[in-house]
Amino acid sequence: MHNFTRRHFLKAFGITSAAALTGIGCAPRAARNGAKAHVVVVGGGSGGATTARYLKQFSPDMMVTLIEPNATYVTCYGSNWVIGGFESMDAITHGYDNLRDRDGIDVIEDKVVGVDADSRTVRLESGDSLQYDKLVMSPGIDFKYDDMPGIEEADAETIPHAWKAGSQTELLRSQLLEMPNGGVFVMVAPPNPFRCPPGPYERVSLIAHYLKEHKPRSKIIVLDAKDNFSKQGLFEEGWEMHYGDMIEWRAASDGGLVEEIDVGEMTARADSGFERVRADVMNFIPAQRAGQIAHDVGLTNDEGWVPVDQRTFKSEMDDNIYVLGDASVAGAMPKSGHSANNQGKIVAAAIVRELMDQEPLDPSSANTCYSLITPEHGISVAAVYKYQDGAQAGVEGSGGVSPSGETSSFRAREAAYTQAWYAGITQDIWG
Ligand SMILES: Cc1cc2nc3c(=O)[nH]c(=O)nc-3n(C[C@H](O)[C@H](O)[C@H](O)COP(=O)(O)OP(=O)(O)OC[C@H]3O[C@@H](n4cnc5c(N)ncnc54)[C@H](O)[C@@H]3O)c2cc1C
Repeated sequence: MHNFTRRHFLKAFGITSAAALTGIGCAPRAARNGAKAHVVVVGGGSGGATTARYLKQFSPDMMVTLIEPNATYVTCYGSNWVIGGFESMDAITHGYDNLRDRDGIDVIEDKVVGVDADSRTVRLESGDSLQYDKLVMSPGIDFKYDDMPGIEEADAETIPHAWKAGSQTELLRSQLLEMPNGGVFVMVAPPNPFRCPPGPYERVSLIAHYLKEHKPRSKIIVLDAKDNFSKQGLFEEGWEMHYGDMIEWRAASDGGLVEEIDVGEMTARADSGFERVRADVMNFIPAQRAGQIAHDVGLTNDEGWVPVDQRTFKSEMDDNIYVLGDASVAGAMPKSGHSANNQGKIVAAAIVRELMDQEPLDPSSANTCYSLITPEHGISVAAVYKYQDGAQAGVEGSGGVSPSGETSSFRAREAAYTQAWYAGITQDIWG
């Protein structure tokens, strides 16, 4: 755990100590030109680490503190490759040394447990506190276990969600290794909106890849809370081509909507009647909401997400707090690592401009989501977004999905792009 050293004290309060110590509501002089302002970033994931790095790039003298409870970050992107058995946990794990040593960001291993917006102070689990000029939060998601009768958060040790990568990824992988040939894998897929719209379907593809090779008599059933999903045509084309009828997807309106899970019996009851689907391995991905700290600070709406000014990602609830990534309401932008990375740059630019008394820009951004159906069969969806009429809106005619009916060499090229995308974005986020 982090000790609140004199260095941190000076960093936190050194903006102009008089202003900081008395300084409620009036921006310190140095903060106004951005140079010595103190920006605290909560969360060292896709959105938070990007923001911290780009703040330092745009304004090298700015004091940037990143608070993250874990010593390393395991990306969800690539975690389906680990579950499918052809990638290691090491390859999807990133540390903060480059941010600390090369970028000059003060990375504190701790958890934010509260924010006092009036005194612009964050409280940490260790008991320390830090004062900020601007606060950035990219806390990701938490789960709405209350929405599903019969299962609670503690049951994730038996029925993993694996929707935050790390030990949950390893647990699901180990359950698949133990599953008998001829066993049934059941995924209960979440309602919209959720982190990574194509993610569940990439996951069943790569589980099928593993099962086809090692336990070919097995079956995969997806019980979905939705009637359609991202890149559906491309996934279904790939499933038929590579896995025959191993994967059965049930739409919400066709018996897929699960009403109850019995953890002891390992069954899911769908609303189509009294049928209980029995699993040897079950992957329940719960409905989602913004990370808990956003709720604790009072930044969320009735749906559980954080409304922001989509031009800058400044919270609608507080003038000094910016919220980005999965936790935010971001118009047409999906909840993805690529979106969070782009938003991190928008937030960094918006903060630097605000501290320099400059108008925010009308940002343009992009998203690409690659998915693998086999390690050599990649598909993608891409879009460009522009801030217009108060929201991040998709630019007409931009982006699109991979064409259907393509050759295996085309799919192999997209699989190679998938790997290149991963290398590029993780380099941009964690250095
Ligand atoms: C299986 C799967 C596959 C995916 N594949 C892709 C893909 O191919 N491409 C893509 O673009 N996206 C993909 N995603 C989505 C992507 O992982 C997320 O959208 C992205 O990580 C969101 O970034 P974030 O910064 O909002 O949250 P996160 O990256 O989750 O970061 C949140 C961070 O905040 C920290 N935190 C939370 N609370 C606190 C607190 N109180 N104090 C301090 N720190 C805190 C957490 O520890 C965490 O490190 C995938 C997701 C899944 C589940």
